[in-house]
Amino acid sequence: MAYIGHRCTCGHSDLQHRGAQTGGGCTARAGHPCQKPCGPAPEPQVIPTFNLHGRPVERVLAPGAGFPTLQKGSSYLRTCDCEACTALYAEVAG
Ligand SMILES: [Zn+2]
Ligand SMILES: [Zn+2]
Ligand SMILES: [Zn+2]
Repeated sequence: MAYIGHRCTCGHSDLQHRGAQTGGGCTARAGHPCQKPCGPAPEPQVIPTFNLHGRPVERVLAPGAGFPTLQKGSSYLRTCDCEACTALYAEVAG
């Protein structure tokens, strides 16, 4: 599986930031800032994720789609659905 997102200048993806995009404060360290400086959201890119067996899965989540989470009640992740991400998704998903 892969998703489209913005990788922040701190090195983490927008999923580890408060809000849909970077710049809202990184929460990579168990909900705490990673202490590296966050920049404005850069151009989106396809970021691979891995399934439980560690193999990449050829599927790209649509912008704004929720991630399948293992535990209900844990913070629900959604991919960024800004215009840039939607445009990139249209390119890669054809
Ligand atoms: Zn970070
Ligand atoms: Zn950051
Ligand atoms: Zn975006």
